[in-house]
Amino acid sequence: MPEICVTIGRTRHKMVLLEHRSLAQKGATLVELRLDWLSRNPDVPRLIADRPTPVVVTCRRPDDGGRWRGSEEDRMVLLRQAIVAGVEYVDLEGDIAKKVPRFGKTKRIVSHHDFNGTPDDVEAIHAELCKCDPDIVKLVTMANSPQDNLRLLRIVQTSEIPTIAFCMGEFGLVSRILCGKYGAPFTYATFSKDRVLAPGQISYDEMQHIYRFPKIGPDTPAFGVLGDPIGHSMSPLLHNLAFREAKLNAVYLPLRVPADEFEDTLKAYDQLGFRGYSVTIPHKTSALKFATKADESSLKIGAANTLVKNAKNEWLASNTDYQAALDSILLGLAEKEVYSLNGQRVLMLGAGGVARAIGLAVQQAGGVLTLTNRTKARGKELADELGCQFVTWENRGSVGCDVLVNCTPIGMSPNVDESPFQQHWLSEGMVVFDTVYNPENTLLIKQAREQLCHVVSGIEMFVLQAAAQFKRFTGRDPDVEKMRETVRRGISAARMQFGNSTESDASEDSEEE
Ligand code: NAP
Repeated sequence: MPEICVTIGRTRHKMVLLEHRSLAQKGATLVELRLDWLSRNPDVPRLIADRPTPVVVTCRRPDDGGRWRGSEEDRMVLLRQAIVAGVEYVDLEGDIAKKVPRFGKTKRIVSHHDFNGTPDDVEAIHAELCKCDPDIVKLVTMANSPQDNLRLLRIVQTSEIPTIAFCMGEFGLVSRILCGKYGAPFTYATFSKDRVLAPGQISYDEMQHIYRFPKIGPDTPAFGVLGDPIGHSMSPLLHNLAFREAKLNAVYLPLRVPADEFEDTLKAYDQLGFRGYSVTIPHKTSALKFATKADESSLKIGAANTLVKNAKNEWLASNTDYQAALDSILLGLAEKEVYSLNGQRVLMLGAGGVARAIGLAVQQAGGVLTLTNRTKARGKELADELGCQFVTWENRGSVGCDVLVNCTPIGMSPNVDESPFQQHWLSEGMVVFDTVYNPENTLLIKQAREQLCHVVSGIEMFVLQAAAQFKRFTGRDPDVEKMRETVRRGISAARMQFGNSTESDASEDSEEE
């Protein structure tokens, strides 16, 4: 079973010891002690005396992404000291590995890091590292393209010597997590999200509890969300926890893919056994083009948010936004015992991708649609396409409606004090559906509640479209209420994380031991 090695990089010995104990209590089984982060001379015996887990001792030079400021001679003394003391692993860079002889039971990780890219001769670098008497080879490069991951994972898979190879950076997450599937003995994570020591690292909690790294094996099917940017997507949290709930061994990854690399990346990722994707901006049109077959809703909208591979290895495109938006509006209408959109006057704010899907759904369901948009030309174009009325943005308050749908980002975090619709334009009994889901209670939703409207938040649509994707991925219905709770927890955790990170970084720098 692959392990998670959690890296501790702190400037004070006391903090290293505290974090190490805390990680062991949380269930960590392997910890990397980064001596180069300590502000005073590293006291190896103190750090390893009563160690609660096996350790990897590492002391990186700045050229290898570390902080060591002392002499090379002193660094070698520390590494040898760790070996003589019998630590479980020592990390030796390729150029020094031959100068440090094997001793006792300490296993040798022979490593190479490239923070600039994934060099053309990465396979040759791996071959050289294999000649340095390693127990494990560690090869880490910066991914400049999603496809760099493939080269490193191929090395993991084909190497005779156990190898940990993955990419850094946002593109690299796929190999950081999938290296276990190809036989890497462990991957690396950080103590917490705000203690990232190398680009693209994720925390032990995420690696253990969201991605469930130790459970990833050769047969674990992979899913993911394709987008650019993708860092703040809530989908990995939602789908991975749904897999866990359903007791399915599967993993779902955030996959950053640039617009011009969409097709090549998907073809390359086919080799990694991906079975399904959620698709977000800017790839929804490309996804439809890429697919072998498409369902009616995606063809109607001209965009797909889901790709699933069938038994014949064909990609099927569908659009779960369409039905999810419709069901969200129907939930609001049901509160006033109206069970169909037929004949309901709907005012839609915005003319982007989401507006297009929702506009089509409303028209299809017999709603009487009026569209408004800040940019008149774009709004008129969509209104003409949908065959509905257009009003200018300035006149949006004068349109009588039963249902208001916000398809603009106005009110989204951090601009939480903004609303796309003035409170006095809202009237009792209206259904107000805000597609924004972060925060759940936007200013528009709060004011609509005050006006005694029936409100539906963007969380509803987000969860319903994800639930429909999960069903397409697995054939099973997820627990939708659990999914709602997960998104709410994810949003509040992201807010807390954002608030705390600068504080903890600053406090350590100012502390004296
Ligand atoms: P998009 O294609 O970029 O369209 C954005 C729309 O919002 C455009 O009509 C744009 O008007 C308008 N807009 C942007 N900023 C504005 C401002 N300051 N004032 C007035 N209008 C403004 O985006 P999209 O993909 O349609 O997504 C729109 C929103 O839907 C997102 O921000 C997100 O909150 C929400 N969403 C929700 C879910 C869900 O599942 N709940 C899923 C996806 C998206 P112009 O034409 O004038 O630029």
